[in-house]
Amino acid sequence: MKVTQAAQLDGIIDVACDVCGMSTRNGDGELQYGTMHASWGRGSAHCGETYELHLCETCFFSQVAEMKRARWLAVMFDEEGNSSLGDDTYGRVKKPTRDDVEPS
Ligand SMILES: [Zn+2]
Repeated sequence: MKVTQAAQLDGIIDVACDVCGMSTRNGDGELQYGTMHASWGRGSAHCGETYELHLCETCFFSQVAEMKRARWLAVMFDEEGNSSLGDDTYGRVKKPTRDDVEPS
C-alpha cells in the first residue's frame, strides 16, 4: 500500500497543508502529511462527490483534538464521557514499530 502511495506522488514537488497553507515538507525534505478523504455514494447528500484534503502534522492533530472535543460534547454526561478526552490514540489504526522510528 505504501508503494502505491509513493507511485502516486511521482512528479509532485510539494504538498501544501489545506488548513494553514504551509508546505508539509519536514526538516529532512520529506513530505509528511495526513489525508482526509471522502467519496460519497448513492443516497448521500453529496452523492458522486470525492474530497481529499492534506494536513500538516500540526493541523492534523489540531483537527483530531477538535474531533475529540466534539465527541466529548456529545457524550460528556455519559458514564464514559471523560475517557474520550484522554484517548491519545483517537483515530489511530496502527502503532509505530521499531522500523518506523529507527533509520534503516
Ligand atoms: Zn497546517
